[in-house]
Amino acid sequence: MTAPTRPIPQPGILDIAPYLPGKSGAPGSKTVKLSANESPLGASPKAIAAFAAAAQHLEIYPEGSSRLLREALGEVHGIDPARIICGNGSDDLLHLLAQTYLGEGDEAVMNRYGFSVYPIITMAAGAKIVMVDETDYTADVDALLAAVTERTKVIWLANPNNPTGTYLSDAEVRRLHAALRPDILLVIDSAYAEYVTAADYSVGLDLVGEAENVVMVRTFSKMGLAAARIGWMVAPDHVNDAIHRIRGPFNVNLPAQLAGAAATRDVEFNEKLREHNAKWREWLTSELSGNAMRVLPSQANFILVLFPDAETATRAFETLMAGGYVVREVGKSYDIHNGLRISIGSEDAMRGVAKILKSMGPAQ
Ligand SMILES: *Cc1c(COP(=O)(O)O)cnc(C)c1O
Repeated sequence: MTAPTRPIPQPGILDIAPYLPGKSGAPGSKTVKLSANESPLGASPKAIAAFAAAAQHLEIYPEGSSRLLREALGEVHGIDPARIICGNGSDDLLHLLAQTYLGEGDEAVMNRYGFSVYPIITMAAGAKIVMVDETDYTADVDALLAAVTERTKVIWLANPNNPTGTYLSDAEVRRLHAALRPDILLVIDSAYAEYVTAADYSVGLDLVGEAENVVMVRTFSKMGLAAARIGWMVAPDHVNDAIHRIRGPFNVNLPAQLAGAAATRDVEFNEKLREHNAKWREWLTSELSGNAMRVLPSQANFILVLFPDAETATRAFETLMAGGYVVREVGKSYDIHNGLRISIGSEDAMRGVAKILKSMGPAQ
């Protein structure tokens, strides 16, 4: 064997397909971005003020445990702040969970159309990702359980899921958990929890409190603070103890901590965003349904539209782009070649998108 002539990444790293973010319009163009599930109402004005005020103290290290942010979350959500860990986006926390609980020879299980970050973090930890078939674009508990082997260490479950918008009821999540070995960590990624309207949904917090092998992960990104990069998780003490040992000691920056705390307490703004989303999600779903399009029932701040075939989806993407709207293609990242994911935006954007899609002529 010849000696390597340059540094070599760990096994598996170069097998990872890079994450494809939602596209933006051309710089300077008036394109409306509906490709990354961002807030159409901006951020909480209180969060913006807190972020700006923090600019006066940029020379000082932030408090390392995000104490003020954890206290705000604890107060509003009724959680002991000691059980919360904050991260530089929930992405940071998902990476830390993978690094802590997965290694060479281990397996992590996820549903086929689950969040595309899970394969990346699993393989980055040297483990194998096992993709499980869904039932009509919804995670299938029996199929997930059937994929568990003695090597399984983690189950990744986004609930509701991105990019499908579908969800599992509390009863289904509990059925999944009840059948897992106690050494398998169930990670419930509730990134879209704020937008759920289904009565039989649970964010996962109760289960975290009852079990030793469940973690709930949340984010501020879908609630107006994507640029600030703030995530949080609630886990049993033994999990928190392990994560604290490897997380960056100052992993959440000061402006983000203060903006996150202010946003958490701005219940009025959060409610406005939630109501706007519920209204226009329902409107867009009913406008588009039929018209040779199927809209999956969504509990998130986006919808997944399924077209008869991949060509029609591409044509719809291009027609929307020409009309000033950029949406998310889900062929390459998610293998749903006939689908487009559309974020719920402003009233104008929703009316514009519906008009364009409904007037698209038949295939040439
Ligand atoms: C957007 C999203 C996240 C959030 O990531 P951040 O790093 O907090 O911006 C996490 N999980 C899912 C399923 C998502 O869609």
